[in-house]
Amino acid sequence: MNLPNTKRIHATIITIGDELLIGQTIDTNSAWIATKLNEIGIHVQRRIAVGDVKEDIESALTEESQRCQLMIITGGLGPTADDITKPLLCEYFDGQLVENQEVLAHVKSIFEKRNRPMLESNLKQALVPNTCTVLFNEAGTAPGMWFEKNEVVFISLPGVPFEMEHIMTAHALPKLKTHFVTPEIYHRTLVTAGEGESFIANRLVHFENQLPDTIKLAYLPKLGVVKLRLTSHVCTAKEIDQWFQQLQSILADIMIAAEDVELEEVVFNLLQSRKANLSIAESCTGGLLSAAITGIKGASNIFTAGIIPYATNMKVNLLDIPAERIEQYGVISAETAEAMAKNCLHKTQSTYALSVSGHLEKQKDETFVWIGLADQHRCISYKVPVYYGRKKNAVFVVNTAFNLLRKFILND
Ligand code: AMP
Ligand code: MG
Repeated sequence: MNLPNTKRIHATIITIGDELLIGQTIDTNSAWIATKLNEIGIHVQRRIAVGDVKEDIESALTEESQRCQLMIITGGLGPTADDITKPLLCEYFDGQLVENQEVLAHVKSIFEKRNRPMLESNLKQALVPNTCTVLFNEAGTAPGMWFEKNEVVFISLPGVPFEMEHIMTAHALPKLKTHFVTPEIYHRTLVTAGEGESFIANRLVHFENQLPDTIKLAYLPKLGVVKLRLTSHVCTAKEIDQWFQQLQSILADIMIAAEDVELEEVVFNLLQSRKANLSIAESCTGGLLSAAITGIKGASNIFTAGIIPYATNMKVNLLDIPAERIEQYGVISAETAEAMAKNCLHKTQSTYALSVSGHLEKQKDETFVWIGLADQHRCISYKVPVYYGRKKNAVFVVNTAFNLLRKFILND
């Protein structure tokens, strides 16, 4: 059934589980689902969390179905006694639980592959209401379910985030795109690094004044990186592209990408395109820089080593920096950061080396880190003041270090 194409589709997301209400589990499902629905032009109107309580789930379904055309429900589909969503939905949509052969074969094959015995409760995963369309779960045992009632679509998904995401991506979103006629949404994202959100906004006052109401500019700030997104479901791609070009030229000096990518991916691509590689000697970031790089597929093409000489004597032992030198200049100094980068470069025979040494906790006078960079011909360091708490400072330092490395590679 297709709805008339002028109608805006409103959605409600209902997350089910006692653990969400007591704060034991943070509801990441709603945020993920909302992003995906937004991308296909479906407007998320409300997000609701309810416990594993029959009456509460039923009243949420009844009340919300009055005001939306799409309801996405996650949670309560596990094989344990607290998970009551499936029988409840079966009753709510006047169905009966029937065994789905395809789901049964899939559940059995999972247990066979893992060489584990199956319990009665696992077999129950293959029971689905005969009033739903099954959304197959290749990533787990609990299938998703698609129901329709009074022109409202209800999609029930498991609470486990990766299973929910799989079913949404592989089955629910493609089906929603054909079921509803949704407006084409066009996005362009520009990524900047090294300048704060308010300073960027200041530079964009004139641009924002000129921007038509039909195009929205969103600021998506992270520590040390700000993404800017132009969105419209009215304008053509060409129109947005024109505004995007303007944005690019205004922010050319701080732009690091004209698409939605992470800073470490920009560094990764840059190294890969130059057939170069990188080693990292990081003290206060304790492996975060290396982890960001190794989190990217193909990291072995560009990453040689990550060294964490956290204690001062390990900077001597692992990186061969003379103890007297550290004593003379201090462990948090330009000289030590540069020596860390230079020695890391030579020890690992890499094209580039990056080093970090500093404080992430507030100090009496000023709190700062030193970031060192080296290649065969150059070795420089930067003093970077930090202003937040320990964890945020670590993220800020990681982003700042990658941005300085990016500029170093580009010889900016
Ligand atoms: P369930 O489908 O209720 O058995 O959920 C299984 C597990 O998924 C729960 O124990 C939670 O860890 C997780 N989970 C459930 N709902 C959410 C949610 N909204 N966001 C993130 N994780 C969730
Ligand atoms: Mg649950």
